[in-house]
Amino acid sequence: MQGLTLIFTGNGKGKTTSALGLAFRALGHDLPVAIIQFIKGSWKYGELASAKRFDILDFHVLGKGFTWKSDNLDEDIQIARKAWEFAKQTILAGQHKLVILDELTYLITYKMVAEAEILAVIAKKPQDMHLVITGRGATEGLIDCADLVTEMQEIKHPYRNGIKAQKGIEF
Ligand code: ATP
Ligand code: MG
Repeated sequence: MQGLTLIFTGNGKGKTTSALGLAFRALGHDLPVAIIQFIKGSWKYGELASAKRFDILDFHVLGKGFTWKSDNLDEDIQIARKAWEFAKQTILAGQHKLVILDELTYLITYKMVAEAEILAVIAKKPQDMHLVITGRGATEGLIDCADLVTEMQEIKHPYRNGIKAQKGIEF
C-alpha cells in the first residue's frame, strides 16, 4: 500500500462530500479512518450522526469557526493551533490508514498555522497512510506536495436561485 496525499479545493461544492465518500470507501475495507474537521462556522450534523455507526471511524470536530470578523483573534489562533497539534499527533501516531483534514486550508490562509509547519508533518506521514485535505484556496506548497489535486468548480449552485440548504445535501 502506498499512502497518497489528496487535496480537494476550489470554490464549488463537493470538497467535504468527496472526502466523506473516500472515508465510506475505506471503511468498507475495514481501514481505520480519522476525520478531523476544522470548523468554519456551521456544523454538518448528518455526517457526525452517521460516523457513530462505524467503530473504526474517529470523528473529531475541532475549533470554533474561523472568521476575519472575530472579536477575539488571539483566542481563535490558540484554538486553531491546538486543533492542528491534535491533527499532527493523529498523523504521526499512524493508527489510521486514512486521515481527513477537512477545511485545513483555512488555517494557512488565515495565517493561524505556518504552511511550512504543515508541510513538514505531511512529509513525515506514515508511508501506508492516505491523507486528504480539503478547503478553498489550497496553497502552492500544499499542491506541490500532493499526489492528487482536484479543483471543484462551480457551474451552478442552488444558492444562486435563493434555494435554502437542504437536509441530506448541505447538512
Ligand atoms: P460540501 O460540504 O457540500 O461538500 P464544500 O466542502 O465543497 O461543500 P465549503 O467550501 O466547505 O464547500 O463550503 C461549505 C458550504 O458552502 C456548503 O454548504 C456548500 O454548499 C456551500 N458552497 C460551496 N460552494 C458554494 C458556492 N459556489 N456558492 C454558494 N455556496 C457554496
Ligand atoms: Mg467543506
